[in-house]
Amino acid sequence: MKAVVFMGERKLEFLEFADPAPGPGEVVLEIKASGMCGSDLKFYRAAKNGSQALGLGPTSGPVIAGHEPCGVVAAVGAGVGTREAPIGARVMVHHYKGCGVCQHCRVGWSQLCAEGIVVYGVTGHGAHARFMKVPASTLVPLPDALSFETGAAISCGTGTAYGALRRLNLSGRDTIAIVGQGPVGLSATQLAAAMGARVIALDVSAERLARAAAFGAIATIDPAAGDPVAAIKDLTHGLGADLTLDTSGAPAGRLVAVRGARTWGSVCFVGEGDSVTLDVSRDMLRKQLTIIGSWTFSTTGQAECAGFVADRKIAVDDLFTHRWRLDQAVEAYRLFDAQSSGKGVFLM
Ligand SMILES: [Zn+2]
Ligand SMILES: [Zn+2]
Repeated sequence: MKAVVFMGERKLEFLEFADPAPGPGEVVLEIKASGMCGSDLKFYRAAKNGSQALGLGPTSGPVIAGHEPCGVVAAVGAGVGTREAPIGARVMVHHYKGCGVCQHCRVGWSQLCAEGIVVYGVTGHGAHARFMKVPASTLVPLPDALSFETGAAISCGTGTAYGALRRLNLSGRDTIAIVGQGPVGLSATQLAAAMGARVIALDVSAERLARAAAFGAIATIDPAAGDPVAAIKDLTHGLGADLTLDTSGAPAGRLVAVRGARTWGSVCFVGEGDSVTLDVSRDMLRKQLTIIGSWTFSTTGQAECAGFVADRKIAVDDLFTHRWRLDQAVEAYRLFDAQSSGKGVFLM
C-alpha cells in the first residue's frame, strides 16, 4: 500500500509499505478517515526527525503519518476476543502503546507509560494509509451515530479539547477564554458552549474567529488588534475569565491565557512545543492561580468524549473545511500549513 510519510522541511512522500498482518493481540483496521491535527504541523515543519522535537522519542526508518485514525476492524490476530474487536466493528484508536502492565497503562493512560511508548502516526505507523495495525487494547468503539470523520477528530484534536475542559472542571457557570481557534481551539469552543459556558475566542485569523462565533463563542478577540488581556477583562466585569485555555502553544498566547484568568482562576495548556516566561509573583502567586498541563486523554476519556458528542448531537463534522483523498496529501498539508483554514481529513 502507498502511505504518507513526513520527510521534514515541509516535504512529504508517498512510500510503498507492505500491507500489515496482525500478530498476537493485534488488529488491522481498514482506515475510513484519517484526520490532520495541529501537532502534525510540528512534524511536517521539522528540520529532521520531528518526533524528537516534541520529546516523543526516536524513530527508526520512515513512519506512516496520521494520528487521528478511524475505521473498521478488517483482521484480528491470535488471542483477540470477538467482543474486543469484532470484524467490521466501527472503531477509533487511542493512538499510543505502552508496556500494558504499569499503573498508567492499566487505567488507559498508556501515553504516560515510563517504559517507553509508541505514538502512532509519529513513532509508529499511523493512519495516512489504507490499513493500520494496532494492539486490540487501543481500540475505542465509535458510536453508530457518529461519522468516521467525527471519530477521527475525537481521536486527537476534539478529544484533546474535551480532555482539557474536563481537567478544568468547566461548568455552565464559567466564562472561558480560549486562545487559538485552530482545530483544537475550535473544538473546545464548540464543546464548552455545549456544556453551557460563555466562551471568549481568541485568534489572529479573521476566518477562524468567524468560525468560532458560528460555533457558539459569545465574543471574539483578535490579539493583534489591541491588548487581548484588557479585552478579556472588558467582557468579564474587569475580573478576567474564570478559566482560560491555550491551544496555540505560542509564548505570547500562553501569557494571554495566564494574564487573562481571574484571581482564583485556572489556566490549561494543551498547545505543544515552545515555552513561556512568567512573572511568578505577579502572574501566579498574587492571583492564587492554578496552571494545568493536559496531554490528550485516556481510552475511557476518548469513549466519554464520543458519547458526549453523540448524545448532544454536536456537529463535529462542521470542523472540517476540507475533505481530501490521500493522494492529495501534498496540497492538503500545504494549505493546513497556512493555519487560516479549518480542519482537514483524508477519507478512504
Ligand atoms: Zn506502561
Ligand atoms: Zn494530535
